[in-house]
Parts: sequence; structure tokens; C-alpha cells
Amino acid sequence: MNVASSLAAPHLHRLRSWLLQPTGRKAHRSWRLRNLIHTAFLGVSVVIGVMFYRFVRAAATGSFPLPDRPAGVESFLPISGAMGLKHWWLTGTLNDIHPAATIIFVLALVLALLLRKSFCSWICSVGWLSEKLAAVGRRLFGRNFRLHPWADIPLRGLKYFVLGFFAVEIWRMNAVALGAFLNTPYNRVADVKLGLFFANLGGVGLGIVVGLVVASLLVQGAWCRYLCPYGALLGLFSRLSPVRIRRDPVSCTNCGLCDRVCMSRLPVSTSIDMRDAECTGCLDCLAVCPAQEALTLRAGPKRVPVWTFALLLLAIYLGGYVTARGLGLWDTAIGDLEYAARIQNIHGPEYGHPGGGGYRGD
Ligand code: SF4
Ligand code: SF4
Repeated sequence: MNVASSLAAPHLHRLRSWLLQPTGRKAHRSWRLRNLIHTAFLGVSVVIGVMFYRFVRAAATGSFPLPDRPAGVESFLPISGAMGLKHWWLTGTLNDIHPAATIIFVLALVLALLLRKSFCSWICSVGWLSEKLAAVGRRLFGRNFRLHPWADIPLRGLKYFVLGFFAVEIWRMNAVALGAFLNTPYNRVADVKLGLFFANLGGVGLGIVVGLVVASLLVQGAWCRYLCPYGALLGLFSRLSPVRIRRDPVSCTNCGLCDRVCMSRLPVSTSIDMRDAECTGCLDCLAVCPAQEALTLRAGPKRVPVWTFALLLLAIYLGGYVTARGLGLWDTAIGDLEYAARIQNIHGPEYGHPGGGGYRGD
């Protein structure tokens, strides 16, 4: 055994024990597993954020050679990713401005098709933050609040409204318009503009962020439930997924624990097959169910072990990333000199938003 593996062995042993130890409420350890993977992805996002900050700061001051720009930052550009996907579909060529945005968008869709909205509950950093804010809210107020259905149902429609707006805009654009938009000065530095937006929040922006944080403390997953168009799209795709939670009414004791833990507030205890577009595939209902065999994860008639679900999710997402890198479909073609020149003039009028679906590049 070499020095590295002997140093790592106790840590791996402790991690395994943590994953497998009884939690006092779980027949298996899916909650711990999901939390570990979700937190690891959050860690990756933090590292990406720090790297991107260093890159932008060096580019703004012309400190060459610039540090590496992490292409993963494009995960925060889903609209550019969706436009890139349609452009790729129409032209057969993946744009080289933000190719990683399109690859990540495709991987999230593939995950939704196979493993429900697992992107939201296992990968997305905003989803992670939403869950933690809800947990803080429960500590502060003793509970999370529920809106009356008269408010809840129309508000849940908001995210589909926002999704519909973007979908129509992109639908109306042909290959020329999409190519022109992707090449605008605005889109070429959309990642930097997004970062600057959050770094320099004005009164209105700050008010919106504070409002969302307070809403997330009070109502579990307020952003995801009411506003996120990305989650809305993944939910629609997840309707086609063969994977779902199945309840066996014979084994079920009607304790209602699954309903109480479900972050999407789905009526698990009265369903047979949970195929709702709001089901994130978090598997928390499985984790809390005290009755053996009452809830199982299924793909068609076949039972899917939680470990298989988690490994498949990692294989698809990380495998997609490695494959894209290997095929040269990950890094932007924008060079450091261009980035530096654009960032130094980023407040100029040419970096304003060029318009939506009516944009024809002229
Ligand atoms: S039904 Fe189960 S897997 Fe789906 S969101 Fe609710 S707790 Fe998570
Ligand atoms: S499925 Fe499990 S957690 Fe849900 S009501 Fe039945 S026994 Fe309780």
C-alpha cells in the first residue's frame, strides 16, 4: 500500500460508516447519499465561482497570463444552452461560444428523461440552497408554511408561464437568428455579465434576492416551486421517465411520513405510482418510510436500488462531461485577449441585451 492510499483509507472508512450507519428513521441510506452528492456538487460550484472570479479580475486588469476560465460556469446560462441546442439541431454544429452551456442543458434533459428531476435534487446548487433555507426556516418558525391552494396553484403556474415565454422566443428563431444571437457581444460575455449582476446588485436586485431568501425560509422550495423555468422544463420531460416511486397499499401503514417529508408536497401516501412533474426524485419519501416494501423505486416493473439510481446519475452527468471534453465540445473558442478586451469595455452600449425572439442579427 503506498503512502497516499494509506492516508486516504481511514477517511474512506469513516465516509462508508457515515453512509451506512443507522439514522434512526431510514430503511436505507438514500438521504445521506443524496446529501453527500448534492453537497459535493455545491463544492464544485463554489470552486468554479472562485476560479471564475479570479479569471474576470485578472482579465479586467489585463494581468496576463490569465488564470484558467472554468467552463462549468456556463451551467448558469441555461437560456444560452437552450438556444445552442436548437442551433446545434438545425445546423449540425455545436456553437463554440458557450458549448458547455448546451452540453449541461442536454445532460439535465437526459437526466430528467431517465431519472426524473434528479438534476434539481441531486445536482443543482440553487436546489441545495433552497433545501437548506427551508431547514433554517423550520428551526426559526417551527415549520414551513403552505399557501392556500387558491394562491398556491396559480403561483405554481408562474414557472410554466416564464418557461413558455422563453420557449416561444426560441421557437421563433431560425438558425441564422440563433447564430447571430449567440455571436452577439452580449452573449459572448453573458457569463461575465451574470457574475457582475450579482456582484453589483442595486436596490431592486438586492430587494428581489432578499425577498426570495425570506420566501424560501417561509415556504419550502419557494423558488423551485413557483418560479424556476428550468425546473418546470425538467418536470415536463420527467413525465416521460420510466422511473418513479411506487407505493404498495398493502404494506403501507398510512403513517403519512412520506407526505410530510416530500419537498414538493406530493400526496405520496395516497398514490400508487408517483409520476407527478413536481417529483424531484429526491427519494426522501423512501428514506423515511418505516414500512418495509411500502415504497419502492421502480423502472417499469423492475425495482431500482437507490445505489443504482445514484451511480447512473453520476455516470450520465460526469460521463457526459468527460465525453464532451474528450471530443473538444466543452471549452469556449473565445481567447483570453478577446475576453480581456471585452471585459474592460463591458459597460459599453454594445453589451446591452440585443432582444429576444424577434432578433434577426441585423
Ligand atoms: S414523491 Fe418522493 S421522490 Fe418525489 S419529490 Fe416527493 S419525496 Fe422526493
Ligand atoms: S408509504 Fe410509508 S411513509 Fe408513506 S404513509 Fe405509507 S408507510 Fe407511511
